[in-house]
Amino acid sequence: MAARDQVRAYGGWQSMLVNESFSIHKAYLRMKAVSDRVSWRRVIKDNRASPRSVFIVWLAAQQRLATTDRLLKWHIQCNPVCKLCDDKNKIIEHLFFECQYTNTVWSHPLRVINIHRRGQGFNMELQAACRKAHSKTRKARIYVMLFTEAIYMLWHQRNQKTFCNTLMQPDRVCKDILFRVATRCKQCC
Ligand SMILES: [Zn+2]
Repeated sequence: MAARDQVRAYGGWQSMLVNESFSIHKAYLRMKAVSDRVSWRRVIKDNRASPRSVFIVWLAAQQRLATTDRLLKWHIQCNPVCKLCDDKNKIIEHLFFECQYTNTVWSHPLRVINIHRRGQGFNMELQAACRKAHSKTRKARIYVMLFTEAIYMLWHQRNQKTFCNTLMQPDRVCKDILFRVATRCKQCC
């Protein structure tokens, strides 16, 4: 959308004036009012996980992580095979958590909080985290933190394998996820 059309959608220049001068504050409020609220906003807003992990989830929720399917769309040459499990599918749904490696990792923190199920695709898992983010219970807060730190650690592992050809064993990644959540739980749960 052109900038002029965007301004029109926000109510036009007149709606952003204070004493006949442009007000950035008023422009921000107009944009905020018009913007659609996303279903996963609480996963970001009420999340006690580390800021860098929340940022990665924020990117993932908007399908903005540089996964191979996106790189190929931009005509960047890369191998479409998942380096974590040799599957030919590298879309975000596979990476979180249909991939054999990431599914093994994610199942462990779930078991720790007494949830016994296999990981699903990213959108299903994000919806599950959204439902938990609406709850104020300690267990729900910990669930959202575990989800967030798992996404971060697995994205990090994917990058380590892609660029440095190193990969931690799933049990070691699980321990790191639990440690990251445990240290922040002491501060804020
Ligand atoms: Zn895989």
